[in-house]
Amino acid sequence: MDYGLYDSHIAKSDKVHHKKHIDLGSEVMLDQERCVLCARCTRFTSDITKTHELGIIGRGDHACVSTMPGKKLDNAYAMNVVDLCPVGALTSKDFRFKQRVWFLTSTPSVCHGCAKGCNIFIDHNREKYKDDTVYRFRPRENQQINGHFICDTGRLSYKQLQTERQLEPIFEAESVEMDVAITALKTMLKMHLKDIVILASPDLYTEELSSLMSLAERLNATLVCPMESYHDESFGDDWLKSTQRAANAKAIEQLAIETTLPHKQHIGLLMSFDHHDFSEIKSDHSVTFQTHTGAKADLVLPLAAYSEVAGTLVNEDGIEQWCKQVIHRKEPLHSVREWVRLLEGVES
Ligand code: SF4
Ligand code: SF4
Repeated sequence: MDYGLYDSHIAKSDKVHHKKHIDLGSEVMLDQERCVLCARCTRFTSDITKTHELGIIGRGDHACVSTMPGKKLDNAYAMNVVDLCPVGALTSKDFRFKQRVWFLTSTPSVCHGCAKGCNIFIDHNREKYKDDTVYRFRPRENQQINGHFICDTGRLSYKQLQTERQLEPIFEAESVEMDVAITALKTMLKMHLKDIVILASPDLYTEELSSLMSLAERLNATLVCPMESYHDESFGDDWLKSTQRAANAKAIEQLAIETTLPHKQHIGLLMSFDHHDFSEIKSDHSVTFQTHTGAKADLVLPLAAYSEVAGTLVNEDGIEQWCKQVIHRKEPLHSVREWVRLLEGVES
């Protein structure tokens, strides 16, 4: 207003200042001075989530978006207001100032947070000399599944792709080179050829589950996928969130993979592919292929996460969805299918 090429009818001192950093709750920040009062965010809380936390208060040039007195934005889908604000007045506390959006590559994918299989964009960027990093998940429209929205848990689940990742093999509680680990794995397999149980995670892609089925057949092993620990009654709701937290539970059903361990079976070698229940099952020896750290076994081997592999997911309504490989690591980790290929011929 001081230096513009026109004469303003309003004195600079008359300009109404609003608040610039308001923490609305649910990881959402509001800059009232950017807001154009379109009411999309308030309609989202009144018409979509029906939680009514947001409203427009005040009159004339004092009108602004605010939460109701004493209330915070607090619902399982709250962060969708960040995507629907047309001017960037609502920003995600988690993402703001982390990365310029024009540096990000958006790759279409599917959320693995539950069996609903909401469509997302994975926004990632590979800076020079660094690994490809995921900065956020955003909803991708699919009227058959999630409409325009995703839940906040799914949105923030991108963090799991790069925290506490299992990156190196551990044999008898010591970090070892990969060739030592592979030799140990083959030795254990040969030792227990008649009494192997393979646990498959119901989060694996259908192609990975199929290759585990053929591995089990070759090794004369039992392939199972216990599902109890993937059921979470407290997570589900009557919109998107499903009580079934396994992303590919439907494929387990379609491929007719056993979901209960055979009673009284002696397990010589328990081999788990990223299954949650792995540590609760007794066996003489144990091998686990892990995306994340924390597992205790005779041999722990690193496994590529879902974003580092391509494959198919079948959601709870039976809709098949193809997921591209999104992340390309500088030092790629083996996928399930690569591990299965490495074990070819071990039974002979
Ligand atoms: S969506 Fe953005 S611009 Fe529209 S009323 Fe809400 S904060 Fe303001
Ligand atoms: S409802 Fe399930 S699939 Fe959809 S975003 Fe949430 S966790 Fe992910």
